[in-house]
Amino acid sequence: MQIILFGPPGCGKGTQATFISQSLSIPHLSTGDMLRSAVTSKSEIGLKAKEIMEKGGLVSDEIVLSIVKDRVLSIDCQKGFILDGFPRTVNQAEKLEFFLNNGQSIDFVLRIKVNEEDILKRLIDRGRDDDKPEIIKNRFKTYNSETEPLIPFYEERGILFNINGMQEIEKVSEEIKKVLGVF
Ligand code: AMP
Repeated sequence: MQIILFGPPGCGKGTQATFISQSLSIPHLSTGDMLRSAVTSKSEIGLKAKEIMEKGGLVSDEIVLSIVKDRVLSIDCQKGFILDGFPRTVNQAEKLEFFLNNGQSIDFVLRIKVNEEDILKRLIDRGRDDDKPEIIKNRFKTYNSETEPLIPFYEERGILFNINGMQEIEKVSEEIKKVLGVF
């Protein structure tokens, strides 16, 4: 089963992705985590990504695609995967379709819907480096302009499912389980 989880910063994607990954025994692929570890290890990709991430912008499609492509096509992803934080632009979504073009297409795009103001508070409480209020605002702006166009993109393909993210974590998981219909 190939799943994409998407939603604005702080909507709980990471938590839900971990849960689905464990329940279905499929890898959890978070581009945010991959990029953060590239930054920590000071690799070439990390050095390029660091400043953009600190400002709350999007790392270039070229860089992100280079790290996702090999990962998605690797052997442990053959039975499925859950993508968390990717794609974030229509170009990334198109490229993903292109390189999955071996019969392994996306089954579900789960969109976690939340209220921006409540989330702002949740993120400030989380206290990560890129969770400073002005940076969070920038991440929301980036989400609204670059990532929201993915909604019609996946709606057209009939695989977009809305999930109410403004409820307890367990309730969100329940809703996801119902959509996936598998556990
Ligand atoms: P996340 O943990 O998913 O919120 O990602 C943290 C940061 O990594 C984002 O604010 C972006 O700067 C960068 N990032 C993660 N995934 C992507 C992506 N698919 N495209 C571009 N930048 C990304």
